[in-house]
Amino acid sequence: MKGRIVTGDRITGKLHLGHYVGSLKNRVELQNQYETYLILADVQALTTHFENPELIKQNLRNVALDYLSAGINPEQATIFIQSLIPEIAELTTYFSMFVTVNSLRHNPTIKAEAKERGFQDMYYGFLGYPVSQTADIAFCKATLVPVGEDQLPHIEQSRKIVRRFNQLYKPVLVEPEPLIGEIPRLVGLDGNHKMSKSLGNAIYLDSSEEEVREKIKKATTDPARIHKTDVGHPEICPVYAYHRAFRQEGSDEIFESCKKGQIGCMECKGKVTERINDLLEPMRERRIVYQNDPKRVDEILMSGTEKARLVAKETMREIREAMSMDY
Ligand code: SF4
Repeated sequence: MKGRIVTGDRITGKLHLGHYVGSLKNRVELQNQYETYLILADVQALTTHFENPELIKQNLRNVALDYLSAGINPEQATIFIQSLIPEIAELTTYFSMFVTVNSLRHNPTIKAEAKERGFQDMYYGFLGYPVSQTADIAFCKATLVPVGEDQLPHIEQSRKIVRRFNQLYKPVLVEPEPLIGEIPRLVGLDGNHKMSKSLGNAIYLDSSEEEVREKIKKATTDPARIHKTDVGHPEICPVYAYHRAFRQEGSDEIFESCKKGQIGCMECKGKVTERINDLLEPMRERRIVYQNDPKRVDEILMSGTEKARLVAKETMREIREAMSMDY
């Protein structure tokens, strides 16, 4: 094994194709090479959904099913629940003593998210979530963090926090490196924004064949194309973005065919629908197996959480010793 990976998702809803190409695909591919920890970040979900914890509870197992369906092997990767590892909360508290409010306020992702959510004043937990995310990474001394592009500022901040801790006390923690997916930002079906649950422009990993077909049918295309022979601009078309993201033989020809007005949008959409359904089909098959065995899913989550807790306890022992708090 080359080292440890930690990554995960806020439990605010099921996962979509943007999550898959941005990070989940990497996790599946790397689970044989790295000791992999996947965090079901229920506490972090509270930073924006504290008024609706019921939603987090409902989605916890859905996200676990998304992982397992996408090909995460529970014999290799450890899936765990963030709130059941109290050491993460403890470590967050220690880190928060030396992280300044300004460094958090100036984090570009925090600024963009606060604007998007219309926050006039930021909640303490929301502003500080990069600190808690650092604890998620540091507790298991992860070396690599597969993340989406928008998470890069957080990883940079995590590296600084870990470096500062190591300088202040003892070098017991590891500075993590980010790993960006092949397609760090997948455009949504509207063609204007990143694929996102809140914007209603997503194709979910649990979609049926019919749902994929219907969604792609309604997807935005190049508005300049009315007739098949009209010259197209695939670079602005989300359908072409999916051809590129879920590339297969013939995908490269789509660009030229669209540019030269040699392919109609319906035909082009048909091809991409087929490709996405080919990708999702094995996921559907695995999902059914796990869905029919909820006890097994609970066992995976509980044994993963127990394993992560043991690692967390050992790291906290070293941390408390480094901080002279080993009373
Ligand atoms: Fe988009 Fe394909 Fe139509 Fe070109 S042919 S505009 S890539 S859907």
